[in-house]
Amino acid sequence: MAFIPKDKITDIQSAADIVEIVSESVLLKKAGKDYKGLCPFHTEKTPSFTVSPEKQIFHCFGCGTGGNVFSFLMKQEGVSFPEAAKTLARRYGIEIPTQTMPPEERQRMDERENLFAVNRQAADFFHHSLLNSPAGEKAMTYLKKRGMTKETVDAFHIGYDSGWDNFTNYCLQKEISRELAEKAGLIGSKNGRFYDRFWDRIIFPIFDVGMRVIGFGGRVTDNSNPKRPKYYNSPETPLYNKSRSLYGLHRAKQKCRQSGIAYLTEGYVDVLSLYQHGIENAVATLGTAITPEHVRLLKGYVREVILVYDSDEAGIRAAQRSIGTFRKENMDVRILVLPSGYDPDAYLFEFGPESFTDAAEGALSAMSFLLDAAIKKHGLSVEGKIRILSEMKGSLASVHDSVARSLYIKDFADRIHVDESAVLEQVREVIFENKKKGLSRQHYPPKQLSDGPLSSPALRIEQQITSMMLQFPEILTEIHHRNLIEDFENETLKSVCQTILKHNNGSDGRVSELIGLMDDKKKRDMATSLAMKEDAWTREGCLSLIAQFESIRNRRKTAFLVQKMGAADDHEEMLSIGNEFQREKEIQAGIRQ
Ligand SMILES: [Zn+2]
Repeated sequence: MAFIPKDKITDIQSAADIVEIVSESVLLKKAGKDYKGLCPFHTEKTPSFTVSPEKQIFHCFGCGTGGNVFSFLMKQEGVSFPEAAKTLARRYGIEIPTQTMPPEERQRMDERENLFAVNRQAADFFHHSLLNSPAGEKAMTYLKKRGMTKETVDAFHIGYDSGWDNFTNYCLQKEISRELAEKAGLIGSKNGRFYDRFWDRIIFPIFDVGMRVIGFGGRVTDNSNPKRPKYYNSPETPLYNKSRSLYGLHRAKQKCRQSGIAYLTEGYVDVLSLYQHGIENAVATLGTAITPEHVRLLKGYVREVILVYDSDEAGIRAAQRSIGTFRKENMDVRILVLPSGYDPDAYLFEFGPESFTDAAEGALSAMSFLLDAAIKKHGLSVEGKIRILSEMKGSLASVHDSVARSLYIKDFADRIHVDESAVLEQVREVIFENKKKGLSRQHYPPKQLSDGPLSSPALRIEQQITSMMLQFPEILTEIHHRNLIEDFENETLKSVCQTILKHNNGSDGRVSELIGLMDDKKKRDMATSLAMKEDAWTREGCLSLIAQFESIRNRRKTAFLVQKMGAADDHEEMLSIGNEFQREKEIQAGIRQ
């Protein structure tokens, strides 16, 4: 991080608020002095991800990850330190001189910036041609026929590309590098000729939650050419990854937070239809099944997701697949199946938004949905029931809450008219099998704080001292003077403390800044965990802890020398160890230094 001036890092650090930054992607609730939420870095049901506004750090007591505002952004967005710093700097209006960066880092960052810029230019160009070109008029008529209003077209910055090389020529005109446009997935080449990848398509820009254009989705205006796929989305680029992006989240996020619920639909047109009817908390996946990354992204905004699917077989299958993913990520999901023959748009048009939200309120739980689908598929003959049970026992077994599970089992047995105990027996078998395979281990193993055994009193004291040094900087001179850290047994703690001591002078002792100086993840995670501890330190308490440590250390040293003496080979060696022992005793008694 040497290539961003230190004073700039300090400026950013003082301006940025970790609670504000984390809140953008994690739902946080106040808990005492701190905030808690579900960890975005591992799967959990009860929040152990803690953010301290006072210390400006975070730590997850589930998976052990911790850090400051920079480390959070780096991990959450998968970017480097300078990129994270730059994002924060931009946000808080701090200027960073980029020429101080090494060339390859600067190039990588410039490339991302340039890709964002070319995407933005393309989105504007397409939007402009939808509204202002003769061919665009045709596309606009098509959109209007499908019930789209100008307000929606503007709100989502929808566009149109009328010719096969319009954008290619625009790049030439505006001196936009063709290579860059190709990298952004906007231009392709064939037989040495460049062409627009989205030609003759209505274009839906895909935004990230920071309102930047990361990619595009395109839909043909007429389905008559069987060689042209109906939908075409941007390829994977350094900015766009379909398994991590949700269409419409940039507009939906506020309503999602307010209502705690998100509608997940099958495509962008559904999102727009819902939006037009005043239902703004809707998002869609982009040509892919829902992934764990999508679910984690949603967890930052809502507590429950309602899947909106067509009642055709493909829709039902898609819903079945999605349920598994939500389950694995421990997120509540219900399924709204629209009447046969209706997509959200047709439904809203005919019955209105109130009817839609009413239907959503009565949306089926995942379990009822799966059971309905199974009954529909197999029927309620004896064979049918056997098949239903064999299909459903896995889902029933995967419900971790035992009370909920027994209620589901009872409900299930009632609905297909079989004996509850028979269902219970089968489900238990699956649970047993899963346990054998180790599949039921849903909970992340809590990370050990140290490399050694946790119970050792020496280690516990070393942890306490580190915690004290992080939280009570007034004691640092004392620690330095007594040379305590040299005698630490745990190497990670020793290294954490050395960093603290080294940077004590000059720094105002802010924990988050110290943590920024620790490049090693193990050190950083340990430091945040110890800094989060709630201890009220007093100078007296600190001194007594130090004395305790010294006494343990002294005992250890003398015991070591006694042992060495016993193992000595000859008289001379014994004598030399004896002298050493004497010297040690004098040091401990304070006679010698
Ligand atoms: Zn975690």
